Amino acid sequence: MSVVQIVTIIGSIPLFSLRTFLPAFLTTLLLSYPEYFPGLENVPPIPEEAFISRDWVLITLGALSLLEIIGDKSTEIRNLLKNAETYLKPIFFLAINLSLLDETSVEVLQEVQWAAFDPLWILLAFGSLLVHWLATVRKDFLDFLEDIDEDDNLFIGRITSWIEDSLVVFGFLLLIWTGILMVILYTVAIAFFLFMRKRHDRKIEEQMLVCPNCGAKNLPFAVKCVNCKELQPKIYAIGIFGQKKEKLVSNIQKHQLNLISHRKCTDCGNKLESNRLFQNCHFCGNAHFQSPTVKEFIKNQDKKFYKIAGLSFLLGFVPVIGFLTSAVLANIYLFSPYRRYIPKGSSFLTKLFIKFLTFLFFLLGIALGFIAAPAYIVLRYTIWKKKFTSRAGKPADSPARNNEV
Ligand SMILES: [Zn+2]
Ligand SMILES: [Zn+2]
Repeated sequence: MSVVQIVTIIGSIPLFSLRTFLPAFLTTLLLSYPEYFPGLENVPPIPEEAFISRDWVLITLGALSLLEIIGDKSTEIRNLLKNAETYLKPIFFLAINLSLLDETSVEVLQEVQWAAFDPLWILLAFGSLLVHWLATVRKDFLDFLEDIDEDDNLFIGRITSWIEDSLVVFGFLLLIWTGILMVILYTVAIAFFLFMRKRHDRKIEEQMLVCPNCGAKNLPFAVKCVNCKELQPKIYAIGIFGQKKEKLVSNIQKHQLNLISHRKCTDCGNKLESNRLFQNCHFCGNAHFQSPTVKEFIKNQDKKFYKIAGLSFLLGFVPVIGFLTSAVLANIYLFSPYRRYIPKGSSFLTKLFIKFLTFLFFLLGIALGFIAAPAYIVLRYTIWKKKFTSRAGKPADSPARNNEV
């Protein structure tokens, strides 16, 4: 077991916890064509009969990496693979490192027979577990980000995805040039990330308020205690990203409409699991949309719609930026509250049509933002509102239509 081997194995742990196929592809590419990597022109490629340098392996991994990079930019695909990924990643980590081990240490292993208990195997087993654990931590973090920006309005999902892609490529190059530096750098980064996560968890825990009646812990925006239903003396306002605001609520109904916008329980403030309109909270059993009703919620949305549409007309006089600001505002305040109650995954054509429409409006918005921005908002708001009301059923707030999906 050489130092280089150890560094390679440890260094590939963070890379495989970020992506499944990309690090595997980069490794096979390097082993087959080292001459294409600056600084490694003199390294001889591994023999052609080696499994890892076969053309079809390289091509398959390359295609999968490309799909992975593209697919990760879509919220739907990312969600689809999220759970399987935490297992796929350690498997690929192990497979690639084992085949590396195979090619380079075949002679050594023959020398020492079965090599009884090569410490390298322990390192690999430990590394696979670490990849799995880190991939799970990453998944939790992405879930947390998605909670903030559920519909990727702020492009948080896409930006993190690009950062991750770059971290894999950058880390890989760093690993082959200065392995030790890469290991140190990535270890420090992961440690910092874990520390920040701990701090955030602690902050959430500290924000919980104790019910004066029964002593149960409640979210800061809870109107009633999750346990005993007692009205809470202190109710904090909820921010647009679902965070606690340092402001006490004075108008409870307005606060409850805000909670509905975030698809949170109007009593205990916890996130509702289903995107159905009429459901009971898993934490406190409160019936959603009983009060405030669907009608009141739509009325509140309409009021915001008039304000933002008017504002977008004024903003539209600022070229490009005016249109973009209007679109983002409308997404966050107007469309998302409806969208949270509508199942994801509209048809491909609908999506394409909306993309095309947005692009058209954007072009128009460069010079004629004061027309394009309000027109864009009116059109899309009407579509989302219609979808939402159709899910509410005919008698707008009848809890009888409980069983729709
Ligand atoms: Zn209580
Ligand atoms: Zn509740």
